[in-house]
Amino acid sequence: MSSSTVENVVIIGTGCAGLTAAIYTGRANLNPLVLEGPLPGGQLTTTSEVENFPGFPEGVDGFQLMDNLRKQATKFGTRFEQALIDRVDFTSMPRKLIAGDRTILAKAVIIATGASPRMTGIPGEKELYGGKGVTTCATCDGAFYRKMDVAVIGGGDSAAEEALFLTRFASKVYLVHRRNELRASRIMAERATSHPKIQCVWDSVPVSVEGVKEGSVSGLKVRHVNTNAETVLPVKGVFVAIGHVPNTKPFAPPLAVDEGGYFKPAHGSHIQTNVPGVYVAGDCADHVYRQAITAAGMGCAAAIEAERWLAEHGG
Ligand code: NAP
Repeated sequence: MSSSTVENVVIIGTGCAGLTAAIYTGRANLNPLVLEGPLPGGQLTTTSEVENFPGFPEGVDGFQLMDNLRKQATKFGTRFEQALIDRVDFTSMPRKLIAGDRTILAKAVIIATGASPRMTGIPGEKELYGGKGVTTCATCDGAFYRKMDVAVIGGGDSAAEEALFLTRFASKVYLVHRRNELRASRIMAERATSHPKIQCVWDSVPVSVEGVKEGSVSGLKVRHVNTNAETVLPVKGVFVAIGHVPNTKPFAPPLAVDEGGYFKPAHGSHIQTNVPGVYVAGDCADHVYRQAITAAGMGCAAAIEAERWLAEHGG
């Protein structure tokens, strides 16, 4: 199914980057079309309190922030549609975005597809994912583990944040990390390691999630990296927080990506790609900062560049 309508600008993704690009292109009267994927609102909708987004001295709820951005984008004429792009054809104008049997045509494209949680790949993880005890979102699922023991895998800010959030519900939170110090920022690391409900399990890698036969998590088997000793932590929930994988596959090639799969912008820019009129913004193109505010900034820059490009090339 191919529509003959050629959009001025299509923005793929509804996280901070995509919605900021929508606000700017909408306000520039470009009537943007935003394509919404499997996690409307992006990663911030799975966060509770956002304390470091400028302008909110008391912090702001992640879901609320994204809802506000969406309303702001809608106010300036943004249209939203559900579509999961699986490949693109950027060899001619207009650019083609293909979602199943649907082809969307666009003069300019802003890709802001974000990143998805990385999984460990250990036995039991996949089988018990989603409602059976393995999850990647404490904010979404933490309340199900009231007065139970749980484990968080990872040593970064996400793992520390998830562990701290889970102390509101769980009796005990094991923080399983493969080294003996957290990668998390000092403030988060101190908060996590000094919390009476959090027990750090250092130098340990996850081996398997137990409980596949029973259909629900009954433990997490871990191995000490120095002694090789294996222990089963008696937990009912396993929260995986080991970083993210950028959602760039449908676009690469033709777009260039680095060894981690992140978009590799061209011409010394952080948002311009090797295809004219196609821009990238947010976590799909940023493995360094990965913050809501930097994603929003990239979305703004991509929108301004798209606007200029359309002005020059008949927008
Ligand atoms: P991250 O910083 O990349 O940390 C990933 C953690 O998972 C690392 O500790 C890593 O261990 C561990 N890991 C990776 N692969 C593993 C595997 N296969 N098995 C076991 N452990 C594994 O990711 P993140 O915590 O999601 O944070 C991403 C970015 O967002 C960071 O820049 C962070 O500062 C930011 N962030 C900020 C906040 C906040 O400010 N409140 C909250 C969340 C995230 P190693 O340490 O050994 O590499």
